[in-house]
Order: sequence, then structure tokens, then C-alpha cells
Amino acid sequence: MTVLAIESSCDETAASVCRDGKILSNIIASQKVHEQYGGVVPELASRAHMQHIVPVVDQAMKTAGVPLDELDAIAFTQAPGLIGALLVGAQFARSLALALNKPLIPVHHMQAHVLANLIEEPSPSFPYLCLTVSGGHTQIVHCESPAIMKVIGETIDDAAGEAFDKTAKILGLHYPGGPLIDQYAKEGNPKAFKFPEPQIPGLDFSFSGLKTAILYFLQEHTRENPDFVKDRLSDICASVQQRIITILLNKLKKAAIETGITEICLAGGVSANSGLRKGLTEAGKKYGWKTYYPSLEYCTDNAAMIAITAYYKFIEGDFAGLDITPTARANW
Ligand code: ATP
Ligand code: MG
Ligand code: FE
Repeated sequence: MTVLAIESSCDETAASVCRDGKILSNIIASQKVHEQYGGVVPELASRAHMQHIVPVVDQAMKTAGVPLDELDAIAFTQAPGLIGALLVGAQFARSLALALNKPLIPVHHMQAHVLANLIEEPSPSFPYLCLTVSGGHTQIVHCESPAIMKVIGETIDDAAGEAFDKTAKILGLHYPGGPLIDQYAKEGNPKAFKFPEPQIPGLDFSFSGLKTAILYFLQEHTRENPDFVKDRLSDICASVQQRIITILLNKLKKAAIETGITEICLAGGVSANSGLRKGLTEAGKKYGWKTYYPSLEYCTDNAAMIAITAYYKFIEGDFAGLDITPTARANW
């Protein structure tokens, strides 16, 4: 079974070809146009998707060495995301499915982040827990099977990725700041400064208080030393990153205890963070978990994760009609 998958939910135009659960190509065009605005501009994202989608799909097919008539299905990200951006991918997928007379598979972007862990070996066995940390979401997901998943904890305000990006913005680093904080943190002392851990009941998260705490902390220190950020950038990054990681891992530990599940994964853009990956591995050794995280190219937005999800949906015969439309928000 060979599927072409398209991802266009935010600012990455991506296409991937997957045959029998094996990824043959994974092409991503990242939109640079947003950097100067310090965040994704929805209208510009839609226009960039329109420019990139044909060459990106073309390259995905060529890299895979698969002619169009060998495709068994066309998959696309149906939700959640920026509506204008989703529409470009959805319209392209519907048109191609119509032209080739092949079934259409709509994919939920967050479900796909979780299933990115099944792309490579070793992969987790079911049931597993997945901490999905991305630009718009922070969730602990209980996965029974590729089709049966339940969100058992999530953020009540900002996502972990937003905590990284907003901190970076306050520090004067360009967007998206997560990877830069990761880089500076490697040279810093994570114990240099202490930031508060929010007391949120259950398995939910909160990151908006941390952002405010960082803002006040910087205001106070730059009053004494105007060069404070410049002088201590690595230590600030290391300390903030450490706090975000402990908030995440403490809740994950709680979820593991409550569910009794010891197969534990990461997913989403923030799972590319080197400190979080290391922290999960160490926690695994300490608590007897088997731990997993996707390769870097499958952490941030990509179409391979859409393709692997579509592969499992194809097996279930979970298709949609050509009248399917994308939605900006969607429960699952
Ligand atoms: P969602 O999946 O919730 O719709 P999204 O698709 O925009 O959001 P992703 O592409 O999964 O999000 O992840 C992007 C986020 O990952 C950004 O906030 C970015 O800063 C963060 N990120 C990427 N690499 C790193 C890193 N090494 N350390 C910390 N954060 C990172
Ligand atoms: Mg992105
Ligand atoms: Fe994403």
C-alpha cells in the first residue's frame, strides 16, 4: 500500500511517500517569510503554501521513485491548524484524489505527532504514553492503538513551545526561539537562576506564569545591569529550559504512576530539545520506563507523520468523501 501525504497546517509545506509503513521520502519547505514578523502570519503562510505545494509534492514523488499511478491513497492534514493554510493542502489532496480516482484519508495533526514514534525502530508497544509538546499544544496522550487515543492532560494556557518562543522573544532572539534557547542552554548553568513551578492539579500544565516570572526577573536584573541579558544569556536559557523540562517530566511521571504504563514517548517540535530528550532518558533509567523519541526530522512538522497515520487508517478502511473540508480546531 503506497500513500502520498501532505502537511500544510502551519508554516511548513511538506509531502511524504510511505509504502507499507516505510517512509520513502520526507520533503519539507520551511517558510522563512515569517521570521521578520516574530511569528507566523496566517495570510503569508497560505500564499507560501500555494507556491511550495507543487514542487514539494513533485520532489517527494521523485525521491521516493514512485509514479503517480502507483499511489493507493492521498492523505492530508485535515485539522487542527491555520484554516487558510489547511485549505491549500486539503484542496490539493482532494483534486489529486479526484484526478487519480483514489481514496482520500484525512489526518488529525496531533494524532500524527503521536504516531511519529511508530516511523522508526525501536518503536513503543501499545499501550504507551506520549508527551506531545509543540508550538500550539502540550498534551499527555494515552495511546491504546493507532486509532484509539485519549488526551489525559493538557495545558490550560500556553503551550511548551510558546513558553520557549516567548522567552526567546523577551531575550531578543529571533523566531522560532526554541532551537536557539536549546543551543545557548548547552553552555549555561541550569542552576544559575530559579524559576517557579506552577501548582496545577492533576495532569494539566500551565506555562503563562513562567513567562510573566521571566519578564519580571529580567526587568529587575537589567535595572541593575543593562547588559544582564548579554552577560548571562547562556545561564538564563539553561535555567528557563531546565524549569520547562522539570514541569513536563514531573507530570509525565505522575501520568506513568496513575496509568501503570512504562512505555513512554515524546512528540512534537519541542521534543527536538536536547535537554528534554536527555531528561526523558534519565527519567526512564530512574523509574524503569522504556523511552522513545522520534528522529529530529519527525519531531517538528513533517508529512512523514501524516503518512504513517494514513497507513494505519488505510488498514482500517478509514476514508473520507471528496466533500471533506478542513477545520481549524478539532477534538479527537
Ligand atoms: P502544533 O503541532 O501544536 O499545531 P506546530 O506544528 O507549530 O504546533 P511544531 O512544528 O510541532 O509545532 O513545533 C514547533 C515548536 O517547537 C516551536 O515552538 C519551536 O520553538 C519548538 N522547538 C523546535 N525545536 C526546539 C528545540 N530544540 N528546543 C525547544 N523547542 C523547540
Ligand atoms: Mg513550524
Ligand atoms: Fe505540529
